[in-house]
Amino acid sequence: MPELPEVEVCRRQLTQWAAGRTLDAVHLVDRAVVRGELTSKPSAALADGGAQLEALVGQIAGEPLRHGKRLGWPFGGGRALLAHLGMTGHWVRRGAGDDPPPQHRLGLAFGDRTVWYVDGRRFGCVVPVEASAMPALLRADCGPDALDEPLDGPALADRVRSRKPVKVALMEQQRLAGLGNIHAAEACWRAHIAPGRRADALSPEEWGALAQAIVAQLRFAIEAEAAGGDDGIVYVNLGGPNPFSVYGRGGEPCPACGTAIAADEMGGRTTYWCPTCQPA
Ligand SMILES: [Zn+2]
Repeated sequence: MPELPEVEVCRRQLTQWAAGRTLDAVHLVDRAVVRGELTSKPSAALADGGAQLEALVGQIAGEPLRHGKRLGWPFGGGRALLAHLGMTGHWVRRGAGDDPPPQHRLGLAFGDRTVWYVDGRRFGCVVPVEASAMPALLRADCGPDALDEPLDGPALADRVRSRKPVKVALMEQQRLAGLGNIHAAEACWRAHIAPGRRADALSPEEWGALAQAIVAQLRFAIEAEAAGGDDGIVYVNLGGPNPFSVYGRGGEPCPACGTAIAADEMGGRTTYWCPTCQPA
């Protein structure tokens, strides 16, 4: 968490809350949130990060873009912010005079509201960049976006086929951008493919089913998680609702067949599947 659907929900909220508005002030609470590159390390804080954010004051915020799990947010004056949300990052809206939310790291004030970047684990960051460079940086080292640039079965096979378990290969962003531990497992369940099967052992029919399942899963998750509230999205691993079929449901009945959902470690992450719907 957060993966493509959760980042897309954040993107839509930032668009609704801030796009087209003038940035009045920056409240940099945790200077380690401004980094020189997209990294999970707070130690990579940018020495003049505060000044670089201050340079955005007076500029109009554009509409954020998304590629995979990354955001790119253009501002006037030829500047932009790249961002990723790490493990726990999300955005929250508060009125101009309201107390900030817990674990706030950065606030951007737009007239009557401030949008706060909240991140308990501090893996997420923003990176000040030139607006002209932002679109290329947004997709650097990434495959096509799993939702906006969907692949058919043969194209998905070309990108994902490997000796690794298919669920592990699906999570590698240079192959396909956007899937992580949750949505890779859910897509495998939708396609009736065991997550531990080698990604060079799938049939053409299975690649076609997986390609359709990925898009269906991402669309479902955005719909299920589209939060309307000012507190933004609450991730399932942080106590939010679990709208998923197998993720986090070890031992519970499969919603399709009733078999107990299996859970096991795969590539360092707990993976869930139905042994009946997804035979090895
Ligand atoms: Zn089942």
